[in-house]
Amino acid sequence: MGNGTYVADTPGFSSISIERYDVIKKENLQYCFREFTPYLTRCKFASCSHTCEKGCAVIEAVEDGLISKSRHASYITMYNELKDLKEWNMK
Ligand SMILES: [Zn+2]
Repeated sequence: MGNGTYVADTPGFSSISIERYDVIKKENLQYCFREFTPYLTRCKFASCSHTCEKGCAVIEAVEDGLISKSRHASYITMYNELKDLKEWNMK
């Protein structure tokens, strides 16, 4: 009569992250980095990708030490990966 069924297996994290990559557009990646939020509206260009633009408030915040360089570096890496994924999907 014991309740012996225990759900022990958890879904694979790798498949979850692949699904998330499909959902996250490169334009939306910026919202996944919460510490970027206060600066997103201060960029010179509305279409700013926050990777290398002049007048980018996010990059300025990185240079001022308000956002950690490693976080911004991983943002750029993910941004480039998402950009490549999109190009692949369009083929
Ligand atoms: Zn920017």
